[in-house]
Amino acid sequence: MSVGSWAERRARRTPHRTALIHRDSAIGYAAMYGRARRLAGVLRGRGVGRGDRVAFFGPNQPAYFDAFFAAGLLGAVFVPLNTRLAAPEIAFQLADCGARVLLHTGAASALPAPPSGPPRLRLDTPDLADPPAPSSAPAAAEPVPPDAPCVILYTSGTAGRPKGAVLTHANLTWNAVNMLVDTDLTAGEVALVAAPLFHAGALGMLALPVLLKGGACVLMDAFDAGEALRLIERHRVTAMFGVPTMYHRIAGHPAWSSADLSSLRTLVCGGAPVPEDLADVYARRGVPLRWGYGLTEAAPGVLLADGAGAGGTGAGAEPPAGLGGLPHMFTDVRVVRPDLTEAAPGETGELLTRGPNVMAGYWRRAQETAAAFASGWLRTGDAARVAPDGTVHVVDRVKDVIISGGENVYPAEVELALLRHPDVADCAVIGVPDPLWGEVGHAVLVAAAGRRVDPAQVLASLPGRLAAYKIPRSAVVAPALPRNGTGKLDRRLVAAAYGAGAPWAEGAT
Ligand code: ATP
Repeated sequence: MSVGSWAERRARRTPHRTALIHRDSAIGYAAMYGRARRLAGVLRGRGVGRGDRVAFFGPNQPAYFDAFFAAGLLGAVFVPLNTRLAAPEIAFQLADCGARVLLHTGAASALPAPPSGPPRLRLDTPDLADPPAPSSAPAAAEPVPPDAPCVILYTSGTAGRPKGAVLTHANLTWNAVNMLVDTDLTAGEVALVAAPLFHAGALGMLALPVLLKGGACVLMDAFDAGEALRLIERHRVTAMFGVPTMYHRIAGHPAWSSADLSSLRTLVCGGAPVPEDLADVYARRGVPLRWGYGLTEAAPGVLLADGAGAGGTGAGAEPPAGLGGLPHMFTDVRVVRPDLTEAAPGETGELLTRGPNVMAGYWRRAQETAAAFASGWLRTGDAARVAPDGTVHVVDRVKDVIISGGENVYPAEVELALLRHPDVADCAVIGVPDPLWGEVGHAVLVAAAGRRVDPAQVLASLPGRLAAYKIPRSAVVAPALPRNGTGKLDRRLVAAAYGAGAPWAEGAT
């Protein structure tokens, strides 16, 4: 199951099929494996061996897979760094994982990493990037046990100090198997890898399943909506994974209405709550979004909507809290109360998951690892409920719940309802103290392009859509909201700017 052996087996089975497409070049499976072997030889010459951490800093380019598979061949642990991080954050992760070497593309002087860190090796130089001469290639994959660490992915840190989730070769393989079982991805797939490969979504939900199957990955250095549409047409792209923000930008691009999208078949959307309007836009274009939910710690897939519709919620069903899905083939979920007993059907509780895709733990954090599991089940920290048809709806993060008069209000559910208002482009709901209810919701609204947003009128549109206790008591307008690189709302920053004690109170409705 080692990812190094994947590359080797694919090179044997489909040597001439295209694995990677980047700008004007295409790399076949044999060439991809050759490049990884060459790099593995270079790394071994520098003393990198089993269990050593190999950090990588660079955009979505073939060098990423050179490094990924080279580390896999050696039994080393691949650590792709988030290229959007600031120098101290990169330094923290390099030190935390104890990187033996830092692989990168582009000039070393442009790296936001301290020179005192691990030795660096630039990959986009001709002698490393060219396919190897057969004689210089090192030996093939070393036998690596399936439970050996394969990658460390640092979680995005919206809940505090980043932690490295250790994913084994088996975790990544089973996640890819789950995806291949639960979707119609084929060897003829042309997948647009538009989300950054340093996050689990692009890697686990798209690139690895497609490469295991023998399809092709079109690599985008960085996401750009116009470029995504151009690449979809040019390469007749069939599959994509993206966070809602990316799909939103694509649908808002001037080229959207005239673009030829007829090749698209599988568009997985997840990583943050998916607004229903967004799903509607794609469904109307005949290219429905397929809702997915996961987290880094699960490599990452946990839930996926069935392929029949946008989210499996069914027309006219109960008002959906975002879209929903079913657990992957080899992954189990439970929804539990705070005392870890089973929640009743329809009752909101914490989502737990277990399966061969779920990590063994965080890198060198015994305490946080122990806290992340309950009797072998991973505590996702997300609130969910199971609909009568078995569809699991993810409501929000448990810790963001607002308790208003004893009732639980999940801000994401309220935000999705607010987003249905045509004047609202973006919004956040936070809890603010209230003498009567303990806490009440306060909405921060961003106006849609070219529109004026009237907070009172937006709030007045909610009765009938949401229970009265869920409706925010006040709202203000803001120019923009703090979202991280994957489009996730940072409610801590929203609360600091607009919460109790912040100047919002004056202009609030
Ligand atoms: P940290 O663990 O440091 O707080 P993070 O939770 O953002 O960071 P990720 O693994 O990047 O770490 O994201 C996983 C989280 O994203 C999930 O726990 C969930 O809160 C959210 N999420 C993922 N998919 C969906 C979805 N389809 N709908 C709603 N939320 C989602």
